[in-house]
Amino acid sequence: MASKPTLLSKTKIMRGYQCLKSIYLTIHHKELEPPVGPELQAIFDQGNIVGAEARKQFPNGILIDNPPWDFFGSLKRTRELLKEETDVIFEAAFEYKGCYARADIIVYSKDTKRWSIYEVKSTTKVKDEHLDDVGLQAWIMANAGLPIEKICIMHLNNECRYPNLKNLFTEVDVTDELRKQYNDIPPKLTEIFKTIRDESIPDIDIGPHCDSPNECPFKSHCWGEKNIPPNSVFNLPNVRDKKWDLYKEDILNLDDSRLTDLTPVQERAVSVYKSKKRFIDKDGVKNALASWKFPLVFLDFETINPAIPRYENTGPYQQVPFQFSAHIWESPDADLTHQEYLHIDASDPRPNLIPLLLNACQGDGNIVAYYSSFESRRIAELAEFSSEHRKSLEALIERFVDPLPLFREFVYDINFEGSFSLKTVAPSILGETQSYQGMIVADGSAAQRAFEEIINPETNEERRNELISASLEYCKKDTLVMVDLVKWLMNL
Ligand code: SF4
Repeated sequence: MASKPTLLSKTKIMRGYQCLKSIYLTIHHKELEPPVGPELQAIFDQGNIVGAEARKQFPNGILIDNPPWDFFGSLKRTRELLKEETDVIFEAAFEYKGCYARADIIVYSKDTKRWSIYEVKSTTKVKDEHLDDVGLQAWIMANAGLPIEKICIMHLNNECRYPNLKNLFTEVDVTDELRKQYNDIPPKLTEIFKTIRDESIPDIDIGPHCDSPNECPFKSHCWGEKNIPPNSVFNLPNVRDKKWDLYKEDILNLDDSRLTDLTPVQERAVSVYKSKKRFIDKDGVKNALASWKFPLVFLDFETINPAIPRYENTGPYQQVPFQFSAHIWESPDADLTHQEYLHIDASDPRPNLIPLLLNACQGDGNIVAYYSSFESRRIAELAEFSSEHRKSLEALIERFVDPLPLFREFVYDINFEGSFSLKTVAPSILGETQSYQGMIVADGSAAQRAFEEIINPETNEERRNELISASLEYCKKDTLVMVDLVKWLMNL
């Protein structure tokens, strides 16, 4: 029989809420769980930063700094602090019937002799999964004997603007809502404990629960077991939840005759798959390109969106450009020129970036950006930030054109596999030399992590220079790839 863990953390129990197979595998087949990647680690780090910021709002709190795996040490220290009627405790630990949870912040009222729980979330609103998570935690704490006055979720406040961080958090009192859920918790826990004591892996099929509320770390294992072909209904453009309806009917292959009720773009993907021939509507491309006007400026931003705002008048998660690359193509016969900017210190990147951006975007030709609404929104925000350059920046917005809809409407290659992202379209159309594989900075989130490292004074010079070169190379490649794609479209 599978061994029973002594205490089950709230994090693991939440896995069980999502999928019983997931909690079983995480306990008994840890070897199937891939290591935490840099992207997920960055999310965890961000959560820790938000947690530390929330603690600042409760001066004189005492932190139980035992490491996460030290269940019994944390419980012992918590008992000591509770006994001393400590006003504020961070990371207090509680246990009830094998379930273990740590509370971000608990505050004691000497008048009522009860405790208020504050659970910190890095989001800008309360989500359904937070109620499950905090509900379980409060249930464990209440049953462990903690008299609870109220339970609040503290999340980031969209209205907050740097440098005034006094209103960085919003508190939402969820006491009554959570108490109503208490009766639903024991049956769920019974099922979870029964599952993990079983000898065999629960027979649970893949489904929407594999991605909701969080992407399950066992996806490559479970989905691999299903032998889903590389080009399946899961790779239809914009297929969303319809793929699960098809999966339930055992319709997986794109040449299945039961595959009906598709959108025109999905129909096209199926017909390209069957014929193995790339689809191109040359007239469509030609008509769309007819209105594009030289000089063309191919523009790409890299942005940072910190949970805790750090630049003037920005809010939580607001995107701030710290880098751009612009390839300028004056006329069909002219050579390309290139301009770029990368901010490399902790100051606000915008004052330096804006004049250089305007210089790169001179003329009255079009500005080309892939998924251009992202770039034009950033420019609108830069215009709001800079009264000096507002008019010039606003004038850029109407000059944007976008190759993405042209690919979506008029081109389909079997290697798109349902995606029209630049990272998929470029190597499919231009060949693998236009792949981003092997680059130190190979996508937007890697660019953000590189930026954080570059501006960190603790980064050594050699590493910093390496990241600066890699960041410049990456952003430059994005615009160069765009140029090549547009040239490809023009040459059709
Ligand atoms: S991948 Fe899906 S089915 Fe497999 S354990 Fe995770 S949630 Fe469950």
